[in-house]
Amino acid sequence: MRKEELIRTVFDAGIVGAGGAGFPTHRKFTAEGIDTYLINGIECEPLLEGDCYMMAHKADSLVRAARAVEEALGAKTVFCLKAKHDEAVQALRSAGAEVIACKDYYPLGDEVIMIYEALGRIVPEGGLPLDVGVVVNNVETLYNIDEALQGRPVMHSFVSTGGAVARKGLFRVPLGTSVRTLLEAAGGVTIDNAVYVDGGPMMGVYHDTPDFSVTKTMKAILALPGDSLLARMERMPVETMLKQARVCCCQCNQCTLVCSRDLVGFHLEPHQIMRAMAFQGVRNESVMKMAMLCSECNLCSALHACPMGLSPRRVNMQIKKAFREQGITPRFERREMQAHPLRDYRLVPSERLKERLGLIQYEAEPYEYYGDLEVDRVAIPLKQHAGPPASPIVVAGDAVELGQCIATPLEGALGARIHASIGGVVDAVTPEQIVLSRQR
Ligand code: SF4
Ligand code: SF4
Repeated sequence: MRKEELIRTVFDAGIVGAGGAGFPTHRKFTAEGIDTYLINGIECEPLLEGDCYMMAHKADSLVRAARAVEEALGAKTVFCLKAKHDEAVQALRSAGAEVIACKDYYPLGDEVIMIYEALGRIVPEGGLPLDVGVVVNNVETLYNIDEALQGRPVMHSFVSTGGAVARKGLFRVPLGTSVRTLLEAAGGVTIDNAVYVDGGPMMGVYHDTPDFSVTKTMKAILALPGDSLLARMERMPVETMLKQARVCCCQCNQCTLVCSRDLVGFHLEPHQIMRAMAFQGVRNESVMKMAMLCSECNLCSALHACPMGLSPRRVNMQIKKAFREQGITPRFERREMQAHPLRDYRLVPSERLKERLGLIQYEAEPYEYYGDLEVDRVAIPLKQHAGPPASPIVVAGDAVELGQCIATPLEGALGARIHASIGGVVDAVTPEQIVLSRQR
């Protein structure tokens, strides 16, 4: 397949990174000078197993899509996953894939860390994997490329249910399905004071209710106790955190000692950011811009490192938001970078993290695949990707078919097409979403 053809197919199908910020995949494929197409199958967040299931059970589809991308980009595909997922490793190798089987630590799924671990290359500060000749996609994104090659756009998301739910496992869910409906299908929540996490416990977004929609980037929905350390750390207002930092931060440096990006060679010292924020505000720009290098992995917070109950991660997120709102993009000089000589001794084993967070009780044995969830109504968000929201091309009352394009990015803007995840009629179009219901 030619590169232009692949880019068009991926754009038409509305494919974005199935996880994280949802960067439109067709844009990644415009890069030149790529020698490695790296598939991120690490899935390092506790309680997430969907990618692992897909690699073990859909290896042929994944390898078929990878071959098409390889041909278009002129790059070699390498799957990167944890050695402990033996079934997935074997399935991929049997399907003809090259696999790098990695050790099990957190946050190996951060693409900067994974590229270093798999290829020994360090992405420059403020740079992208493209700068070291690599395009990274995750497993579900690759599966969506295979679907697109068969003429099917993105209409579903593979979502794991976990934590305090009756049935833990993987569902294929129409985009726009209410998380409340998904949790009912999973047998309901088994605790009274739950919070609802979109994603993993370390980096996911915490919600007070399950009244939000399944999107292209959703990997998991976890129900966790509202009084757990995880929930308390995420829900504390950042202003309160900064007040506490002024009083409590003892500059012990523990946050910097474990910082996963600092260990791989970035100049990111969260203890310095905490000191500057507590006493100088945003005036110290050379320190503030370090926050832009943060992956938000959460190891520096009280969940792992900080003995004083603080979260440098939350502070970094606040600084990044302020830079974005002011339209400031800090620049970083290119320099020789080297991983920290003690890095190997400071890695955090995933099992230890799970135990510390009290998550072992929620592990699913065995992890089940529950197949397709059937729903009669969806509210499909217009923003499921990096860039501005897509623009609707249907109006209330229109009949739509399954897979029909219903919204598209503005001309020249970063974004992705959105397709009907059920056939039926358009009930409503708002600036945020398109509501569809099935006609029986
Ligand atoms: S670990 Fe906590 S107390 Fe220590 S320097 Fe970092 S933020 Fe301050
Ligand atoms: S969240 Fe903390 S440990 Fe993780 S990259 Fe950011 S500063 Fe470093």
